[in-house]
Amino acid sequence: MSTSIGFIGLGIMGGPMSANLAAAGFAVAGYDVHRPALDRLTAAGGQPCARIAEAVVDADVVITMLPDSPQVEEVVLGEEGVLDYAKPGTLLIDMSTIRPETSRRVASLGSTRGVRVLDAPVSGGQQGAIDGALSIMAGGDERDFRAAGGIFDVLGKTVVHVGPHGAGQTVKAANQLVVGGTYALVAEAIVFLEASGVDASAGLEVLAGGLAGSRILELKRKTMVAREFQPGFRIDLHHKDMGIVLDAARTAGVALPVGALTAQLIAAARAQGYGDLDHSAVLRVVEGLSGV
Ligand code: NAD
Repeated sequence: MSTSIGFIGLGIMGGPMSANLAAAGFAVAGYDVHRPALDRLTAAGGQPCARIAEAVVDADVVITMLPDSPQVEEVVLGEEGVLDYAKPGTLLIDMSTIRPETSRRVASLGSTRGVRVLDAPVSGGQQGAIDGALSIMAGGDERDFRAAGGIFDVLGKTVVHVGPHGAGQTVKAANQLVVGGTYALVAEAIVFLEASGVDASAGLEVLAGGLAGSRILELKRKTMVAREFQPGFRIDLHHKDMGIVLDAARTAGVALPVGALTAQLIAAARAQGYGDLDHSAVLRVVEGLSGV
């Protein structure tokens, strides 16, 4: 019998992830507060559910892919939530990007109900989700990580057990620190090249092949130069993630000056009304600083 998966949060990421699991032969029952997301799951061969309970009650594995810590707390720990209905022995894999301390709390409360928990946030964006090529950083027990192997194989390409509960989220925070900083610097390079009368497309093409090269330069340089900012990953979500990064850094007692500056640039993008645009729209803020 195939593993039954309850999948909650069928948005930009959860939509294609749940569709890939259904296509791979898992029985996927999904729930989302947004009705069109349920229709997409039906089209992908999954079972739409009207309540969390329906998605969870017969599941061997529950996956959550929600925006932020409050939604994970509400869906998992809240009244009529996952822990109220999951049978003992269920594996809960939270793949949302949330605060490490929330992941630890979910794991601890899960264990009081016999529910095993992994925090397994991802990197790779919407295209990585569509292609089943995400990077997955998992925190929790090694045994549970191994038990999730068949699911992670469908969703991801680089899958690493990085430590105990919360460690997956800490690694994801480090990821967002590097991604945010890289976008800010690529934006500065574009503004600098253009203001100097040099073709930014040609310039960035060379950068992409040298030591300055990165996945961001590879995948996003053309859309950035063209000022196309369809998400992708929204500024609002990166703003949330920089909050997680800076809070976690304070807890760890370290200074992240470039991270703090990056967080302010992303906050400015949000304040200027770009919250629903792709995070590469930080370019708009960098342009504004130079009046271009
Ligand atoms: P999204 O907003 O597209 O999807 C979230 C989904 O959760 C939505 O469909 C929403 O309706 C649903 N939802 C919200 N509250 C709910 C609730 N209480 N019950 C049920 N459903 C609820 O966001 P996304 O881009 O798919 O991101 C999801 C998570 O993955 C976030 O934590 C994000 O930081 C992370 N992430 C996103 C990307 C990306 O490129 N988009 C990449 C890596 C990680």
